[in-house]
Amino acid sequence: LYVAEHLQKGARFPADERAAHYLLNVLRRGSGDPLLLFNGRDGEYRGRIAEAAKRRLVLEAVEQTRAQEQEPDLWLCFAPLKKDAVDFLVEKGTELGVARFQPVLTAHTASNRINQSRLTAVATEAAEQSERLTVPDVLEPISLEALRTGWSKDRRLLICAEAGAAEPIGRALSGLTSDVSSSHKFAVLIGPEGGFQEDELDRLKKLPFVTAVGLGPRILRAETAALAALAAFQAILGDGG
Ligand code: SAM
Repeated sequence: LYVAEHLQKGARFPADERAAHYLLNVLRRGSGDPLLLFNGRDGEYRGRIAEAAKRRLVLEAVEQTRAQEQEPDLWLCFAPLKKDAVDFLVEKGTELGVARFQPVLTAHTASNRINQSRLTAVATEAAEQSERLTVPDVLEPISLEALRTGWSKDRRLLICAEAGAAEPIGRALSGLTSDVSSSHKFAVLIGPEGGFQEDELDRLKKLPFVTAVGLGPRILRAETAALAALAAFQAILGDGG
């Protein structure tokens, strides 16, 4: 269970509304029941429900079960999709180790907005379910132009381009990770359902920190493409970078 509080042996604190609802109504837990706690900083603690009253649930950290581990530093940049597709993307991306979700507005982006708090809740549940010890950040959308100009050059951006037109992602990743002079921080960029405009792609491909990669011969839905790219990271790097 994700909590905001500092965790140490014996720490006691009230559960927030989301956690209380999840424990009482979804998992049907009660006083004395065990649970695992994490906050993204202090590792994982075995804990328990110390008090369960109708309106107040108190949690207690009993002992540390895992130290905070180094987690993948992989970013997923994507053009906002329809609600169900973006929820799916954030849930599965969290399971596959994404540290930051960056929505990017492109010429053919279907929707200009995302519901940041709903997506953070989706990411939190997925982190809990997959026993990650961090919850990824879901950022506000930015324009493709802002992404290009504000990019920190020590992170390589892998652009998933049209089917068949670029080097396969597996080969590109093996080459990049065996090159000691190249950065080993990565981000993936997936286009919208309508694809990138030709000039968007041309301008991106000219940037020194960009590598265009392919995900096979078929045209994948944007969310499928994102998961295929993340699975390739997992397969090749073990932990997504
Ligand atoms: N009509 C669009 C086109 O032809 O480019 C289709 C876009 S596809 C539905 C959505 C996004 O998924 C693309 O912009 C690209 O980023 C990614 N994508 C889909 N299939 C891919 C593939 N085989 N290789 C690389 N990227 C792919």
